[in-house]
Amino acid sequence: MRIAVDLDDVLANHFPEFLQFHNRTWGTNLTPEDFQASVGYWKDVGITKEEGMARLMAFTKTEQFRNQSPVPGAIEAVNYLASRHQLLVITARSEEYTAVTLEWLGHHFPKAFERVYFTNHIGTNQHLPKRSKLEICQEVGAQLIIDDWPNIVVECAGADIPAFLFTRPWNEGWVVPEKFSGHIFRVKSWPNLLKEFDFLFMPL
Ligand SMILES: [Mg+2]
Repeated sequence: MRIAVDLDDVLANHFPEFLQFHNRTWGTNLTPEDFQASVGYWKDVGITKEEGMARLMAFTKTEQFRNQSPVPGAIEAVNYLASRHQLLVITARSEEYTAVTLEWLGHHFPKAFERVYFTNHIGTNQHLPKRSKLEICQEVGAQLIIDDWPNIVVECAGADIPAFLFTRPWNEGWVVPEKFSGHIFRVKSWPNLLKEFDFLFMPL
């Protein structure tokens, strides 16, 4: 099976680490639980979108960004899946972050992923062509996607690509629409995902 895997907040502990940086740099006391959304976080902080993006971009220049911790359990679970399936990363980061992204993946997940695709949604260069995750999934023949954003999993489920949605503070209140209950599966951790994966996709 070909499986598309999101990077930030699925493989990398991105938003919690960004908030640590934010707290240190701007004297705030934010935790992930304070947020309805990791993208659009500036609304909850009470700053403009421009300032919010600038702070996110400042984070991408730090050592902490380069050295983000993996999400707990991700390494073991990805290695397990990679030994049986073809994995690829689809990230909303822009290709400006190619070097740092490949370096981080190579360090924590050497050889696990066949390729990395950048949709060019998050970055400083607004002129790079943006693509949707669904478009890339269809192009590469992904049969399953793992992400933490409801809009992404809904878009893919609507095109018959099943999805695991990682529960995160910003999607906790979201309910899987009835018509996608056989396509979108919520998981709270990587060990939880592996159990569900075997149950749903292992041939009998
Ligand atoms: Mg994500």
